Amino acid sequence: MKHASHWIGGKPWAGEAAARGDIYNPATGQVTGTVDFATAAEVNAAVEAAAGAWPAWRETSLTKRSDVMFAFRELIRQHKDDLAAVISAEHGKVASDAAGEVSRGLEVVEFACGIPHLLKGGFSENVSTGVDAYSIRQPLGVVAGITPFNFPAMVPMWMFPVALACGNAFVLKPSEKDPSASLMLAQLLSDAGLPDGVFNVVQGAKDAVDALLAHPDVRAVSFVGSTPIARYIYETGTAAGKRVQALGGAKNHMVVLPDADLDLAADAAVSAGFGSAGERCMAISVVVAVDPIGDELVEKIARRIPALRVGPGDDAQSEMGPLVTGPHRDKVASYLESGVAEGAVLAVDGRQHPVTGGNPDGFWLGPSVLDRVTPGMSCYRDEIFGPVLSVVRASGYDEAVSIVSGNPYGNGTAIFTNDGGAARRFTHEVEVGMVGINVPIPVPMAFYSFGGWKASLFGDTHVHGTEGVHFYTRGKAVTSRWLDPSHGGVSLGFPVNR
Ligand code: NAD
Repeated sequence: MKHASHWIGGKPWAGEAAARGDIYNPATGQVTGTVDFATAAEVNAAVEAAAGAWPAWRETSLTKRSDVMFAFRELIRQHKDDLAAVISAEHGKVASDAAGEVSRGLEVVEFACGIPHLLKGGFSENVSTGVDAYSIRQPLGVVAGITPFNFPAMVPMWMFPVALACGNAFVLKPSEKDPSASLMLAQLLSDAGLPDGVFNVVQGAKDAVDALLAHPDVRAVSFVGSTPIARYIYETGTAAGKRVQALGGAKNHMVVLPDADLDLAADAAVSAGFGSAGERCMAISVVVAVDPIGDELVEKIARRIPALRVGPGDDAQSEMGPLVTGPHRDKVASYLESGVAEGAVLAVDGRQHPVTGGNPDGFWLGPSVLDRVTPGMSCYRDEIFGPVLSVVRASGYDEAVSIVSGNPYGNGTAIFTNDGGAARRFTHEVEVGMVGINVPIPVPMAFYSFGGWKASLFGDTHVHGTEGVHFYTRGKAVTSRWLDPSHGGVSLGFPVNR
């Protein structure tokens, strides 16, 4: 049985936890270990370690900070398969998918390696005679990240490489469902030369989160998770005077126009709907089929599903793993019943899908398709976060775009078409933060910023890219004049340029 604990002051925490949770292997349904749950005392210890380490880290030169990021990048590359195996064993996703999430996180580390360039300010000479003005960006201090189960490496890596490179100290509170990847990342940061205390991990759930939100030394909080918790984090954190970016849930629509290549669209819908068992914040959960192609598209999607191999994540042949927990699997499956009860057509029933090589006690559910879903149904309104693809029929482009924009979530969306004018119009008018054109999962590169609109984001700044640098720094504007006897004399007037 493994045991995951906190990482405080550059080493594993050695105390006795007041409470613990179980770690499962979703492919077997068995408990494989325990995770300590932090109380306010451990959170205080982590924040104190971070606050103690921050002044020296802040004074560390940009070149040295980026050296640590370069070394961290190399270590992640060396340990990518180990990280992927740990993620797969606790989350359930197939190992190649877990390696993919590590790669996408690595791209943010590579972005952070360029921090000397990213923190360049502006300089204006002679804004008044003999007076210069310039701007600089400075770190905030101790910042915290609270992350979801579905990307135990990538989502923390959206946050801490940028925060650390900007000169902050970091406290991470990962999901209690898959805590081990965070500890591997902490060890690799330490091996890369990050000073003790600059990066800390506290494990746990609500108590740990609340202690971070209440701690006066935590200056900023980045959160990624479900919408109700994102709203709570934003409201509680900002009420306590903290800077907060809280990314919430999603309901990502893929619009298929009649002129699209339907085979390409069906491939994309299946890949984006069922990859990682639909437990991706950018998974496609709704296909909007624009008349008259609905029947043909559903038939093409349904035809692809029987060949998908569902099985344990550590089997290289598996394409889709189990869901993260038994209760989550049951909740996802309940939408198949409620969908049919509300009038949808169950075109593919994932409960019948064979599991290859899996333990029957694993949290299995195969890919499902609910056709003729309408926006009033609970399977449409709720974020299901599992391998259930809903198909909504639309009479034309205008109805399709109004369905997408009318949804309360606004994380990602995609349009499949060969009509450049329609695609351009869609990207211009759709009320969603990230848009794909013939690309079903339009996750921005690390040098752009990731974030949705509406109920998918509370706060103003998206993560990583330039917005990430801005989130983790404060701007300062400096006006300077070096002593010059010709400018002597008292003036009570407001300084203006003449
Ligand atoms: P979650 O909201 O249940 O948990 C996220 C984090 O909040 C975890 O660290 C958890 O311990 C903590 N938490 C849970 N309940 C809490 C409470 N009552 N008070 C304080 N903290 C609490 O989310 P999850 O189930 O781990 O992850 C799946 C969700 O995350 C989905 O809704 C998915 O769409 C979303 N997500 C969004 C994005 C995005 O970029 N917008 C990315 C990944 C995941």
